[in-house]
Amino acid sequence: MRSLPDYDVIIVGGGMVGASLASALCVEQFRIAIVEAVSSRSDNQPSYDDRGLALSLSSQRILAGLGLWDKLCSTPIRHVHVSDRKHFGFVRLHAEMLHIPALGYVVTARELGRVLLDRLDMTDNIEFFCPATVDAVWIEPACAKVIVNIDGVTRTLKSQLVIAADGTHSRSRELLGITVQIKDYGQTAIVTNVTPEKPHCDTAYERFTESGPLALLPLSDQRYAVVFTVNTCDAGHYLQMDDYTFTNCLQRRFGRRLGRFQHIGARKSYPIKMISAREQVRDRVVILGNSAHTLHPNGAQGFNLCLRDVAGLAEILIPALSENKDVGERELLNIYLAARQKDQRHVMRFSHALATLFYNELPHKVLVRNTGMLLTDMLPIIKRSFLRQAMGLYGRQPSLVRSLAL
Ligand SMILES: Cc1cc2nc3c(=O)[nH]c(=O)nc-3n(C[C@H](O)[C@H](O)[C@H](O)COP(=O)(O)OP(=O)(O)OC[C@H]3O[C@@H](n4cnc5c(N)ncnc54)[C@H](O)[C@@H]3O)c2cc1C
Repeated sequence: MRSLPDYDVIIVGGGMVGASLASALCVEQFRIAIVEAVSSRSDNQPSYDDRGLALSLSSQRILAGLGLWDKLCSTPIRHVHVSDRKHFGFVRLHAEMLHIPALGYVVTARELGRVLLDRLDMTDNIEFFCPATVDAVWIEPACAKVIVNIDGVTRTLKSQLVIAADGTHSRSRELLGITVQIKDYGQTAIVTNVTPEKPHCDTAYERFTESGPLALLPLSDQRYAVVFTVNTCDAGHYLQMDDYTFTNCLQRRFGRRLGRFQHIGARKSYPIKMISAREQVRDRVVILGNSAHTLHPNGAQGFNLCLRDVAGLAEILIPALSENKDVGERELLNIYLAARQKDQRHVMRFSHALATLFYNELPHKVLVRNTGMLLTDMLPIIKRSFLRQAMGLYGRQPSLVRSLAL
């Protein structure tokens, strides 16, 4: 008989992805440990900041399946307007086209964090080591050992499986010697929020400009979450501007469609890179979330893709754990990866194509993308297919996306 390690699963990183996976696994009496570096409810928790997140219908279904959706305060996106600044192309998307109430929803990362952490607090079978960091990860035939540092005290945790969900600069990925491919876009996203003069009418905007995309996502109280992408060499300049000057820059970039922008919020910046881990599974290891793939925020797909990975992984782990199988076995983890790779590749290619095609003023590229936008706007068949992809409702998706229980 197999001797059992301390935990079934250790999740390194209790951010959006690690906490979502724990929420999916805690429905059964599995023994789960989370190792998180930053105090969960503190203002400087990097995963749960004031960023607005556009959640696709696939994410809404997954969170509903986990019993979390009703607890979230969200704003629906019923219309999307995509345009190319100074050029003729645009695309308008409407929820009615697909006979659905919304194309997606906006929540703040902080709100999502509140709901996820409330769920974890209510669960007895999760041990939360926080603030704690990982000093070493050893993979042995019978178990994985994670050496954690808790307030200067070192402790060894043993489990069948280690999930590295500690973000883009994952320390656990590095400790395992897993290398990454990096594409630096030379861009920085400046995130803030603003109240426009006119009501938002549940409309999101994505405006492609010479220095990168500008996204406005509707929030409650008629506010908009703003993702303003600039060349990294100019980012310091934009961050140091006073509010009045910055609001004017934003206004010039967006135009007057929503009237005057007022009440600008605090600004925070994120360097933009595409990062993909060269390995996502090993014996007793899964690399998950931003640690596995970090995307350009242009298509608002990063967390949506990660959440479909979480649903796909939970779908494999829960039955195996229920049957007392060893969830660290490579064959099992390969099944997860095989099921998820097509979606991952598709979304990464789409995000990279958006970043390169729209960041290019060569006349033939401008013509191709603007003609493509107009065709998409005019032809319902292209529009519907585009929408299904953006909502994560294409191909074979995990059962929670198909609204089936885990
Ligand atoms: C500007 C911007 C806008 C975005 N907008 C959208 C959007 O609209 N829609 C969408 O789907 N996605 C969006 N994303 C992507 C989304 O934010 C990410 O996909 C998501 O944050 C990934 O979550 P994660 O848990 O993998 O990583 P993170 O959120 O980075 O969390 C990692 C966690 O690990 C912890 N940690 C780090 N190191 C250690 C360590 N050594 N030991 C223990 N713990 C550690 C951190 O404290 C953190 O809690 C956006 C991203 C950006 C930058």
